[in-house]
Amino acid sequence: MITGTTVRRFVRHALIRTGLEGISLTRAGHLWRAAAGRGIIFTLHHVRPATSTRTYANALLSITPSFLEEAIQACLERDMMPLPLQDLPERLADPRDKRTYFCFTLDDGYRDNAQFATPVFRKYGVPYTIFLTSGFVERTRSIWWETLEAILACNCEIVFDFGSGEKHLPLGSEIRKTFVYDRFMDYLTLTPEDEAVDAIDRLARSVGIDPLALTDQLILPVHDIAQLAEDALCRFGGHSLTHVNLRRVDADRLKHEIEGSLDTVERYAGYRPETFAYPYGYASAVGPREIQAARQAGFKVAVTNLPGVLRSESAQDPTAFRRVSLNGNYQKRRYVGALLSGVPFKLPDTRKA
Ligand SMILES: [Zn+2]
Repeated sequence: MITGTTVRRFVRHALIRTGLEGISLTRAGHLWRAAAGRGIIFTLHHVRPATSTRTYANALLSITPSFLEEAIQACLERDMMPLPLQDLPERLADPRDKRTYFCFTLDDGYRDNAQFATPVFRKYGVPYTIFLTSGFVERTRSIWWETLEAILACNCEIVFDFGSGEKHLPLGSEIRKTFVYDRFMDYLTLTPEDEAVDAIDRLARSVGIDPLALTDQLILPVHDIAQLAEDALCRFGGHSLTHVNLRRVDADRLKHEIEGSLDTVERYAGYRPETFAYPYGYASAVGPREIQAARQAGFKVAVTNLPGVLRSESAQDPTAFRRVSLNGNYQKRRYVGALLSGVPFKLPDTRKA
């Protein structure tokens, strides 16, 4: 049986692609300059060569090094200037400054960032910020979406209790895997996150997967972070202690997650971070309380994943900057042009489809 979530996923993809194609083909991006504002902050996760095994679930989190290069070229062709994220508030607040900027940010601290993205950023002299989750760096917290992808890669039958008794879930086909993935997404929404992560960890171990070994395989270790911190183009920022949805935790945990990441990132990188990325970053994971907490903790800049380009007014709220995700499902140069135009963010929000 296919859930409504699965159907919505396909509809959403079709709508986004149609929208991006429409904008790139009509060249609306060139006609509607005002929509582009003062620039853009890109969100990236994995940067690594394409594989044929990543066909569902996390595919949107991976872009190839050549697509990253195309995105940089698209910005440079439009005379946009690369800028370190922490410098953005001053530039946007300066009324004499009419330039447009682009910033690159990479969430979660994947090893592939150093291996595949750093050489591209160096080639073009483009600064970038990597946001670290302390529990991932220290191998004490698993990355549930990666664990889930590893579980779903097996062609076995899994047994899991979503809250109404054990269910046997065969994973024999792509459509079954997508269905099971969506059930887990619903489960994660309804279950306290720590509890859900623990349950997914137990499931992983039951099919022979070690979730923390997977974290170790994927995330930059402290030694590599220290090494990368010497790269003048690279800055590290905080991404909480456990990557929990901050809107779903109490005030004490919120403070601990945000302020704790100041200290841990300082320990790894050798300087106090000035930037923070809210885990998940969408509207149900970051609100006024979280934006204020990041400001009170002393972060100069904090970024959401609410889609949008930069405006001069954005400088008034530097712990609520919007970003644009470079999505692994839409890796075409002309789509970057459409995003840079700002037009997609003026259109009705197709993501709610
Ligand atoms: Zn993240």
